[in-house]
Amino acid sequence: MDAGKRKEFRQTLQALAARIRAADAQTEGERAPVELDQQAVGRLSRMDALQVQAMALETSRRRAVELRRIAAALARIDEGDYGACLECGEEIAVRRLELTPAAPLCIACASGK
Ligand SMILES: [Zn+2]
Repeated sequence: MDAGKRKEFRQTLQALAARIRAADAQTEGERAPVELDQQAVGRLSRMDALQVQAMALETSRRRAVELRRIAAALARIDEGDYGACLECGEEIAVRRLELTPAAPLCIACASGK
């Protein structure tokens, strides 16, 4: 992969990470602990609140996983081996990287073939 393309992917990955961090910061309130003994909140809405919180925590967990994948991809760019499949070493198709720039595996290895 040429330097220009690598630079492009670096910018894409950085922008992606910034978007994920911003989204995570925006929904911070949804992950706050649900107050269980609040008089004003009925039993049903407490259940709702817990469910919303559980979903928010799961979304946040997935974002953290994605951020780690992005950080790893950025590290590979720095080390010059970005774009090579971590499993077989073959080049990952640029089209695949354009769709999922943090992809660590080629399509064959990712699909277990
Ligand atoms: Zn592979």
